[in-house]
Amino acid sequence: MGKIFLEHSNGVKLYSCGACETNLTNKGHLISTRFTGATGRAYLFKYVVNLTYSNVQDRVMLTGRHMVRDVMCKSCGAKLGWMYEFATEENQRYKEGKVILEHALITESEGFPDISSTPNRNNFEQ
Ligand SMILES: [Zn+2]
Repeated sequence: MGKIFLEHSNGVKLYSCGACETNLTNKGHLISTRFTGATGRAYLFKYVVNLTYSNVQDRVMLTGRHMVRDVMCKSCGAKLGWMYEFATEENQRYKEGKVILEHALITESEGFPDISSTPNRNNFEQ
């Protein structure tokens, strides 16, 4: 978790729940923006936090049969996308364990201002 905090403080683009703005992930974990979800454009991330997962479902997609779990915001319960549990096609295996967030259901924001610079400046002034 400490690693994530450091990435936030460096101004990396953040992705948060569109309903309650709970932080989910950042651009450092983004794999692809070329996916399509129920609401349109969807992003594939290798690491997302603050989610709850549904039971595994068997779903046939454009790229073959997959076992997936719907993912919901841990804070407010809004559905945000899905996670690939298992892909039957060999060339789709790279998606296993990865999470899709639908662009229409999340918000993008710039990372926090560089937090680490604030205590440094205070020290300098003292
Ligand atoms: Zn939420």
